[in-house]
Amino acid sequence: MTDPRACANLPEVVAGCATLCGNDSQEQRMRVHFHGAAGEVTGSMHLVEAAGRRILIDCGLIQGSPDAEARNFAAFSFDAAAIDALVLSHAHIDHVGRVPRLLMDGFRGPIHAQRATADLLPIMLMDSASLQEGEAERANRRRRPNQPRAMPLYTREDVRDVFPRVRALPYGERGEILPGVELAFRDAGHILGSAIVELWAEGRKLVFSGALGMKGTPILRDP
Ligand SMILES: [Zn+2]
Repeated sequence: MTDPRACANLPEVVAGCATLCGNDSQEQRMRVHFHGAAGEVTGSMHLVEAAGRRILIDCGLIQGSPDAEARNFAAFSFDAAAIDALVLSHAHIDHVGRVPRLLMDGFRGPIHAQRATADLLPIMLMDSASLQEGEAERANRRRRPNQPRAMPLYTREDVRDVFPRVRALPYGERGEILPGVELAFRDAGHILGSAIVELWAEGRKLVFSGALGMKGTPILRDP
């Protein structure tokens, strides 16, 4: 059965598509590092280095087998405190489900999301935290005396720290999110608020297609 909170089993470009275009300057190049949803379908996370800044696109939960999900507890493969801004492509949990962990690990920047994604984010993260707390509670009930206590990945209390950082941006509006870095969202037609992320920096443009919807679906506009 499809998890309505995640992209699983939906047609999409899973690892996104990073396209660099513009002047071919050798001095400064926009760099993209794929930290998640590479060789698997969940845990979307991509780090862009541009104009001397670090922008993370998505911070998704890894889902699937218990072994795969245990990796959500692992440290990020980059310094969370050194990320200047987070951009979210849409509110599915495999794209936003580790945002509270990013804050717990030191991220203190703004979180940019399309307006509907910004509205959905508290619902999705609170739901995820409730599930995490419930899983830890169940594990602790089954725990043997010599086993360590299970901890939730994050709690509803941790999730509350996310909300003041969210900056909503409507589709089609281009805004400067960091000095020398501009962002715009285009409708991806995947779920409400889903966006193709466009970034401009150093005279280049990066297009992150993310999860694209199908044409002709009710309610959603075609991508
Ligand atoms: Zn999705």
